[in-house]
Amino acid sequence: MEYAAIYRMGVETLKAAGIEEALLDARLLLEEACGTDRNTLLAHGDFEVSPRQEECYMDYIRKRSGHVPLQHIVGYQDFMGLRFQVSPAVLIPRPDTETLVEEVMFFLHDGMRVLDLCTGSGCILLSLLRYSNDCVGTGSDLSEEALETARENASRLGLCAEFVKSDLFEAIEGKFDMIVSNPPYIRSGDIPGLMEEVREHDPLMALDGGEDGLGFYREIIGQAGEYLYPGGMLFFEIGHDQGREVSEAMRGTGYRDVKVCKDLSGLDRVVYGRF
Ligand code: GLN
Repeated sequence: MEYAAIYRMGVETLKAAGIEEALLDARLLLEEACGTDRNTLLAHGDFEVSPRQEECYMDYIRKRSGHVPLQHIVGYQDFMGLRFQVSPAVLIPRPDTETLVEEVMFFLHDGMRVLDLCTGSGCILLSLLRYSNDCVGTGSDLSEEALETARENASRLGLCAEFVKSDLFEAIEGKFDMIVSNPPYIRSGDIPGLMEEVREHDPLMALDGGEDGLGFYREIIGQAGEYLYPGGMLFFEIGHDQGREVSEAMRGTGYRDVKVCKDLSGLDRVVYGRF
């Protein structure tokens, strides 16, 4: 079958299944199945797809029609220009979280010690290490399976970081220049209303921030001071409507220069302050 024809078939199947980004997803899955790039559809639509490639593509389309996230089908997500392996044990890295990494990078100097709480795939910590020199990184997570994915990502990217199983600070030792976290922050009551891809395929423990969504921020803000050098900084990703509460909690605990920053959609996404 011809490349453009099989692409259109995939688009129709995804549309019928109610997949919002049917055009984009069908193209990306076809490129993954055939080892092609964006130009192929534009310039070589008459290219003959082999039976094996076709079978692989149709399998991907079937999975995506069942609302399995694209990233779980292909096994990776690009973030900060780096490729991260994903698994059902980790939150799929989101473009919004690049805003957090970028804000941290304004303040990150060579040789600093960085702690990433609720590290998941490790995408935040490993991006920071990749774009700095001689920084020392620790990532913690409650999920051993998530830590395995994070360790695999470190090794694939050729980066050295320590990943420890810890309930927030429980098993953390020493002090840091920067503590960063994208903790679970969705209100428990909002979880049933999330997209199926998120609700059914991202780990619940990476999403559920308790009744008011702020439980992890309270705990982290309450304890981070013990783990920060004087003048050290705490950075959070937040939900778009949590900027006021999280920044007030930081100020109330003695943090200075507390700031709320917006993501590329213009929504509050990051809060940070200096201890
Ligand atoms: N940003 C994620 C979402 O909207 C939530 C991530 C989190 O809770 N830390 O699905």
